[in-house]
Amino acid sequence: MTTAHILGFPRIGAQRELKFSLEAYWRGEITEATLLDSGRDLRSRHWALQRQAGLDMVSVGDFAWYDQVLNTLALLGALPTRFGFDAQALSLADYFVAARGNQQHVAMEMTKWFDTNYHYLVPEWTADTRFDGGVNWLFDELAESKAEGQVAKVSLIGPLSLLYLGKVKGGLAHALDLLPALIPAYQTILARLQQAGVAWLQIDEPILALELDARWLDAYAPAYTALAAQAPKLMLTTYFETVQERAGLLHSLPLAGVHLDLVRAPQQLPLLLAGWPQGRVLSAGVIDGRNIWRGDLAAALQQLQAARQQLGPDLWVASSCSLLHVPVDLQSESALDAEIKSWLAFATQKLAEVAALKRSLQGEAAAVAPQFEAARQALHSRRNSRRIHNPLVQQRLARIAAEESGRRSAFPARSKAQQERFQLPLFPTTTIGSFPQTAELRQARASYKRGRLSHLDYLETMRAEIRAVLQQQERLGLDVLVHGEPERNDMVEYFGEQLWGYGFTLNGWVQSYGSRCVKPPFIYGDVYRPEAMTVAWSAYAQSLSEKPVKGMLTGPVTMLQWSFVRDDQPRATTALQIALALRDEVADLEQAGIGMIQIDEPAFREGLPLRAGDRSHYLAWAVRAFKLCSSGVSDATQIHTHMCYSEFNDILPSIAAMDADVITIETSRSDMELLDGFGEFAYPNDIGPGVYDIHSPRVPRVAEMQRLLQKARSVIPDARLWLNPDCGLKTRDWPVTIAALENLVQTARLLRASVQETEEHVDCC
Ligand code: GLN
Ligand code: ZN
Repeated sequence: MTTAHILGFPRIGAQRELKFSLEAYWRGEITEATLLDSGRDLRSRHWALQRQAGLDMVSVGDFAWYDQVLNTLALLGALPTRFGFDAQALSLADYFVAARGNQQHVAMEMTKWFDTNYHYLVPEWTADTRFDGGVNWLFDELAESKAEGQVAKVSLIGPLSLLYLGKVKGGLAHALDLLPALIPAYQTILARLQQAGVAWLQIDEPILALELDARWLDAYAPAYTALAAQAPKLMLTTYFETVQERAGLLHSLPLAGVHLDLVRAPQQLPLLLAGWPQGRVLSAGVIDGRNIWRGDLAAALQQLQAARQQLGPDLWVASSCSLLHVPVDLQSESALDAEIKSWLAFATQKLAEVAALKRSLQGEAAAVAPQFEAARQALHSRRNSRRIHNPLVQQRLARIAAEESGRRSAFPARSKAQQERFQLPLFPTTTIGSFPQTAELRQARASYKRGRLSHLDYLETMRAEIRAVLQQQERLGLDVLVHGEPERNDMVEYFGEQLWGYGFTLNGWVQSYGSRCVKPPFIYGDVYRPEAMTVAWSAYAQSLSEKPVKGMLTGPVTMLQWSFVRDDQPRATTALQIALALRDEVADLEQAGIGMIQIDEPAFREGLPLRAGDRSHYLAWAVRAFKLCSSGVSDATQIHTHMCYSEFNDILPSIAAMDADVITIETSRSDMELLDGFGEFAYPNDIGPGVYDIHSPRVPRVAEMQRLLQKARSVIPDARLWLNPDCGLKTRDWPVTIAALENLVQTARLLRASVQETEEHVDCC
């Protein structure tokens, strides 16, 4: 026999039930009791799916009202003390205050869960953090699953990963200083689970796949020795990277099992199997929990068989990580082409894949032969389909060197040519691209998509908006204009829909944070641009103004990063294909007289691999893709790029290597601190550090922007400094937008006047 399990199931629901219940509850439309019912209902349904698929244990502990890290804190009684909650009597309302904030309290900070697009709430570790026990939700859920007659495996975030993922604040020197208090809290929980009859506890320690210093590594043995004393059998899980460097440590810990991600890091299997302790379970994560492709069952089986020889029934079959990162069910995707659909597997389908592998391993190959055959056929069609393999793209990629020579001149010469052409004032003002997306605009786009608004009526609605946006910018006195992006609902989807090789789902939602979900497109084939995508809009906008209107594109890394990507070729290859498509768009824009083209790369930094050692390779191809798409233009064409989020300093050389003429970045929230890096590194080209935070609904005052600019000017020479908000304005309303931009333009005018005065003063003395 062998055992089949998963590391967690998406909690949001196939129809995003959790999202809608949460939001209705927050609006006061449903009671807490109704919300609780909907959670119970979802858990029950998800367990039923796991059971019916043939898994040996259902996953308990993967449910969370907002986030699994926050749930762990609630369980331990360790929500940030600044909220002043009674840990043992924590209510759901309190929990949501921590997650979302209210008038009195700022919400907990949120950050990405490793290299996924899921965001967790960051624990706040202070000297007065306590772990005296909290809510009983986990035990209630366990009882629910038992009442349904299921064998439950409970999952918990491990103590060391939990500490590591938090932020050290007030009065604490190091997160590990809290470990002596945390271990007894885990011991209490583990003992309770054991008493409740839980045989296996999945304890997630994903940080073991990161580069850890000795202090963290040394903490493992004593911590796990203390935990194992009175507990269910411990299955320590790792994922998202190899843990091969940790083989010795893992082997020495008192664990009943270890889980490895064999999708991301298949090479670690033999290295871990050497010296594998007798009687220890290996949970082999062979079904991809991070992507939507149907598994290659034959290959997975082969991988498993090698381990099976050594381990016998101690080999388990599993998903590579929690299925939280994939959509719930492919079944409802009624609009997908049948061939493409045959290539995919969402969470529900992945359950069946795990179960089929288990049955095949334990001698029931005949029973699952149809599933293996279907997987084989899907793979065969992916290898050969003309929907995927486009000779035009491949031939061009093979000759890519010819297109990779970079810009014709270096920045100083380009800058001169551009200045002659555009005659911009000192401290040019601009915006990042989008203007407020009103309900009418959304409505018009939706009606057009559903065929309820004719093409010409749609065009006129959008053109009317572009006219209004341009008029407004002229009135405000901005120097470099944008068309406002009214025709786009999403910066990746908009382009993906116009490119071959991109697929879309109706319902492929994945939780991003709390009740927020995203529906990423998927890239299945060679990316090819059959025709111009933005030229008509940009050319129309430019025809309305004497001032430059920026063309607006989404860069190759962001197009890749915010999509599910191919697993049959390196990410770098896909990025280059997208870059070639964008390169043609850039050329067409230039041809149409668009003198400034902005290529947004807000996801550039997110693409960084988890391990420092892999970063230079990533940065090299990411920069290469950006240069490929942006460098085909003449010196007098100005290339802009935009990046959100702070923390650039460690990748500044790569940002400089992208060689955009102007970069606009988010700096206002960090009070321009991140600019220090730009100064130290002597960033060579133009920079527009965001002078106000568009995420806040308040109107920035002139004095505030002046203060920020003063800081910026100490780092960036005046001649290369632009003024702009820190991101697009699509989430703001018009009155705030206008008031903010009036102040921004006023700030630029005052600054120009003061510089002129000093210059005159210098002249006369
Ligand atoms: N041009 C886009 C906009 O203004 C950029 C969005 C982003 O950086 N996320 O909306
Ligand atoms: Zn942005």
